[in-house]
Amino acid sequence: MSELPPPPATRRLGASDIAVSPIAWGMWRLAEKGRTAGDAAKLVHAALDAGITLLDTADIYGFDGSGGFGDAEALLGEVLAAEPSLRGRMVLATKGGILPPLPYDQSPDYLRKAIEDSLRRLQVDSVDLWQIHRPDILAHPEEVARVLDDAVASGKVRALGVSNFTQAQIAALQHFLGQKLVSTQPEISPLRITCFENGELDQAMMMGLTPMAWSPLGGGRLAAPETARDKAVAAALDAVAGAQEVSRSVAAYSWLMAHPAGIIPIIGSQTPARIAEAADARKVRWTRKDWYAVLVAARGERLP
Ligand code: NAP
Repeated sequence: MSELPPPPATRRLGASDIAVSPIAWGMWRLAEKGRTAGDAAKLVHAALDAGITLLDTADIYGFDGSGGFGDAEALLGEVLAAEPSLRGRMVLATKGGILPPLPYDQSPDYLRKAIEDSLRRLQVDSVDLWQIHRPDILAHPEEVARVLDDAVASGKVRALGVSNFTQAQIAALQHFLGQKLVSTQPEISPLRITCFENGELDQAMMMGLTPMAWSPLGGGRLAAPETARDKAVAAALDAVAGAQEVSRSVAAYSWLMAHPAGIIPIIGSQTPARIAEAADARKVRWTRKDWYAVLVAARGERLP
């Protein structure tokens, strides 16, 4: 059976001229375990050395239920301040719009301040991608669009994306924006397959949005599956991983990357060796038979 096309060495974010690696590295867990700026620098280097140029953070990363808001951005900011040449080697993505203890806030004043605060913590003049982290259903998309267009016009943000938006929310925001959204960031993994059949990825392809997959290993569950269903998914991945001499995690990343929407998995590991091995995902080849075997295991029932 013929193989699915391999992922390209670089992708463009949406219709923008921003070239990125087909794999990203995420910093949700960066500010955990008392990591210092020195520890964070090692992880940033591990990602860049592995050819991963798209780095994803958020203002809320580091928040632990009471404090820590902004800590992951601040750590990365220290890394960038200590080694300014790193900034030019990465496509820097962050997010805002979740304000604990209130869940979500995309009022104009809050959004403007959130973007400014992220730049200050990151110690940069601009970010390449700014994403709304989760939709605020009390914000009118026309007002949100105005603030975001202003952020791009001022040079603080190069391109715009969303995360955890419904298809209708994406369409509504795009309707009012003066430019094209470049990315969407839903949860996608071999354990979280809803977007393959609910239209989200079809909409991304139609609108030219680059899908960035959060928690591509199900937050680590795929590494230690517990339920019968999760074990079946792991076994379907292991069949390909074993034959092609890669780890199950790498097989999982490559499974996402084989989708025609050009999914970019966001590697969540904060272990240098695991970040480095993610680069192997470009080498794995999938046939339709093997790809669908993983999907069927995740569905828990045969295809119709
Ligand atoms: P993940 O890749 O699904 O899970 C990573 C976790 O799995 C880490 O704790 C890692 O531990 C663990 N793990 C265990 N065995 C592993 C192995 N063999 N290989 C790799 N990792 C292994 O991703 P995630 O951290 O949940 O999320 C990834 C990124 O997605 C985040 O950093 C963030 O950028 C983004 N995200 C976005 C949203 C959103 O709402 N937009 C939500 C969640 C996440 P070690 O660190 O010890 O390796």
